[in-house]
Amino acid sequence: MSDMNPFKIAQQQLDEAAKKLGLDPATHELLRWPMREYHFTIPVKMDNGATRIFHGYRVQYNNARGPTKGGIRWHPDETIDTVRALAAWMTWKCAAVNIPLGGGKGGIVCNPKELSEGEKERLARGYIRAVGKELGVHRDVPAPDVYTTPQIMAWMMDEYETIVGHSHPGMITGKPLPLGGSEGRGDATARGGVYCVREAAKKLKIDAGKASYAIQGFGNAGQFAATLHKEILGGGKLVAVSDSRGGVICKNGIDAQAIVKYKLETGKVEGFPGTSPISNSDLLELDVDILYPSALEGVITSANANNIKAKISCELANGPTTPEADAILHNKGILVLPDFMANAGGVTVSYFEQVQNTYNYYWSLADVHQQLDRRMTDAFDAVYNTREKARVHMRLAAYMVAVTRVAEACKLRGWV
Ligand code: NAD
Repeated sequence: MSDMNPFKIAQQQLDEAAKKLGLDPATHELLRWPMREYHFTIPVKMDNGATRIFHGYRVQYNNARGPTKGGIRWHPDETIDTVRALAAWMTWKCAAVNIPLGGGKGGIVCNPKELSEGEKERLARGYIRAVGKELGVHRDVPAPDVYTTPQIMAWMMDEYETIVGHSHPGMITGKPLPLGGSEGRGDATARGGVYCVREAAKKLKIDAGKASYAIQGFGNAGQFAATLHKEILGGGKLVAVSDSRGGVICKNGIDAQAIVKYKLETGKVEGFPGTSPISNSDLLELDVDILYPSALEGVITSANANNIKAKISCELANGPTTPEADAILHNKGILVLPDFMANAGGVTVSYFEQVQNTYNYYWSLADVHQQLDRRMTDAFDAVYNTREKARVHMRLAAYMVAVTRVAEACKLRGWV
């Protein structure tokens, strides 16, 4: 895959699954493209009195299984092809965890670090004025993504409700709790991944409570994985963690809660008492039972896949493993829990938020955890069973499960 255009990559991944499934040409072509996309300009009055024109997108990739769902990303390098690829991946992610939603994504080309709070609010409201009529709980439901926050979701919801003239909190998720956000959204991504690890460990007959684990990337996903691994699996030894500034290792185990506290206080993991330094690349090759790539894309490649020793790689990050490395890890017997299954806990709890908003009845934290556990366990079982039956690696198995579900919905609707 020399062409790194993300949408081309997304199409190639689908092509592989379509070939394996023997998908008919019309369904295959339908699933290769977004069903609908919107491109628009957003004029914003800046604090200095000038007007600046921003460019925005919303892609509704496929809604055969339900309203489209996906975040809005604010990034200076945002392109329509990035949004298309992310919308395609959302389609497969929602289908993999079997929630009744399609896939969508949105974006604004901007650098939020250069915007004041007031400018951000006017930009958020402008986005809704431009495309809001295409959104709604039964049409398309946005959420936060890179550089968008619960506060931005709150402004967007307020603008939408002002336009439609009534309460409509389910039109967007990832809202602050007082405005209809869901309990349990904060750690949902890591929690969903750890549930998958629990199921994978059973299959591989690993005693998860005694297993060693290492985490690359110590942000939202990685920090929660550190503590939830112990909480959900009843133990385990955290051996190493890293962030963009470097990593630390202690063969006797690192106190997960203490290192999270240290990271929050100092902004780094380096120098955590009782540990020695380790590079990000060495961390990936440690002899641990479970690895959590939780930072960036493209970190496990054909150059280092042969040196990976973990038995399970739980991809909380999006796209940490290249296609070439996937094949190598599979041949080595390493079980990869692919990103769009392993990190689907976030969108699953977003879906719960939408359901609670629609009912105007809110669940307890325990209810959210129980429902999330069921969805993640079912997703793992479906993908693992497909892997066994079709003798393919886990990512291809996940694609096969997801694409089959979306294709079936398209067929039942009479589209193909
Ligand atoms: P974050 O910004 O909170 O944390 C990212 C972490 O990665 C930071 O600790 C950063 O220091 C570290 N990092 C950056 N460059 C690194 C490098 N070269 N080596 C090691 N660490 C490095 O982000 P997040 O929300 O935790 O997301 C992490 C990954 O998980 C991303 O790929 C994201 O797309 C994916 N993901 C997150 C969620 C979610 O709900 N947070 C949901 C789905 C997928």
